[in-house]
Amino acid sequence: MRAVIVTDFERDPEVLDVPVPKPAPHEVLVRVEASGLCHTDIHAAHGDWPVKPTLPFTPGHEGVGIVQAVGSAVTEVVIGDRVAMPWFGYGCGTCGYCVDGRETLCESQRDTGYSVDGGLREYSVADARYVVKVPDGVSPLDAAPLTCAGVTTYKAVKVAHVVPAERVAVFGIGGLGHLAVQYARIVGGFVTAVDIHDDKLELARRLGADRTVNAATTDPVAEIQAQGGADVAIVLAASSQVFEQAFRSLRRGGRLICVGLPKAGAFELPIFETVLKGISVIGSIVGTRQDLREVFALHAAGRTEVIAETRDLADIARAMDDVLDGSVPARIVFDFSK
Ligand code: NAD
Ligand code: ZN
Ligand code: ZN
Repeated sequence: MRAVIVTDFERDPEVLDVPVPKPAPHEVLVRVEASGLCHTDIHAAHGDWPVKPTLPFTPGHEGVGIVQAVGSAVTEVVIGDRVAMPWFGYGCGTCGYCVDGRETLCESQRDTGYSVDGGLREYSVADARYVVKVPDGVSPLDAAPLTCAGVTTYKAVKVAHVVPAERVAVFGIGGLGHLAVQYARIVGGFVTAVDIHDDKLELARRLGADRTVNAATTDPVAEIQAQGGADVAIVLAASSQVFEQAFRSLRRGGRLICVGLPKAGAFELPIFETVLKGISVIGSIVGTRQDLREVFALHAAGRTEVIAETRDLADIARAMDDVLDGSVPARIVFDFSK
């Protein structure tokens, strides 16, 4: 079968012919139908972060497909089910975080496409307890971006506790951002979308953003403060400078939601303003299995729209370059059905 393999952080990933994996007792073997390319896969392939994947590995945590075989201990799904294989690929199930609803903080977690091989391949294995069933009414091509971009931004909006008529600034209208705009709208926020490409801002407007700011030509801080400041700023761009802009865009009592994971992983947080303005700084990491079920339910009910371009797996290196250039419409999804 074909699989994307990263062998060297300095070189492009390759598509190689590798054996189909066998499921362990708690695992399923999934025939992948569609698999999205998250910016995180690019960080992984480049070894951008302090904790690096062990080489060689297959990235991908937006894999969706049909269960083809099940391990001897699997009770959660059956052959023929359509499932999603998210970043949160395994948790211990018994620690405090796992049992109190914060399973994505589990210290024993396995992360799909990072600490274990991911979904950018024709067949994938995944722990049956941590895959999420894709309901009828959600196509595999739509389910793929929802499996990370969707659940991550849905969770970001949840942890921000946005209430109707609050002002939400979304920085970065890529794969994650185009869905963040929609979730912020669903909970009743007034949305300002910030990006550096006009076509992404046009898309944000079409998906419900009330205002847009092109940060390449206009200072987003001045623009957002001129409107009274944001109650919530969600950072989805892979740039630490954007975190500073987002912080300075907040009004008193504002919440900065940190989601993007730039290589240069630090920004200056002014203590005086944080304290006097009562600002909260919140990190948000993907979402739980239940969050993903809710994301699928919203999509099946027609509340969200996924914007993606399909490509063949052979195009992986160029696809990564195109995401970095910002020249793709929201998400790239590899379509395995052809
Ligand atoms: P993406 O490349 O699709 O989107 C990034 C967007 O940011 C693009 O539209 C780009 O034009 C825009 N941008 C770049 N510079 C900007 C600037 N100066 N101001 C405003 N916008 C700017 O990436 P993505 O897949 O949406 O992922 C975004 C980030 O989120 C990545 O760092 C990724 O690793 C991270 N991520 C985090 C989590 C999490 O759980 N915390 C989950 C998934 C992805
Ligand atoms: Zn992701
Ligand atoms: Zn745990």
